[in-house]
Amino acid sequence: MRVCRMDVHNAKQRSFNMSQIRNRDTKPEMIVRKLAFALGFRYRLHRKDLPGKPDMVFAGAKKVVFVHGCYWHMHDCKYGRVVPKTNAEFWQTKRQSNVDRDVRDQTALAALGWQVLIVWECETRDVEALGERLSKFLGRGEVEKVEVESVVVETTHL
Ligand code: ZN
Repeated sequence: MRVCRMDVHNAKQRSFNMSQIRNRDTKPEMIVRKLAFALGFRYRLHRKDLPGKPDMVFAGAKKVVFVHGCYWHMHDCKYGRVVPKTNAEFWQTKRQSNVDRDVRDQTALAALGWQVLIVWECETRDVEALGERLSKFLGRGEVEKVEVESVVVETTHL
């Protein structure tokens, strides 16, 4: 994954209180995990007995969350629409097979009665909006004030 230092600086100046940051794990999945936890939701990770090994499993509510990288899962955003420059055919095929598998997994999960939420990597940049989406999906009507500063980690992933 490409790390862009410039990006970190912009994010720092723009909106986040970076002085609060202790966690150095920059994966989008970690952002979603921390956020869900801060919102009071408890979950299990990567349950192997479910189709697609969902990133987060909320068993009581029978809901799962996948955190997808925009490029590898071909999100319809500027990161997902990037066309590989070298070995284009090979990487396109690989990405397409990810997308096909996602559809299969989500269909299988739905057939088993699970509700599925996809969180895209690019969406983890707006933690407040993401918090609202998560709360809505996980069935909490009123969104509590989230202490964003304690949740956000460095966004060096895009
Ligand atoms: Zn995206």
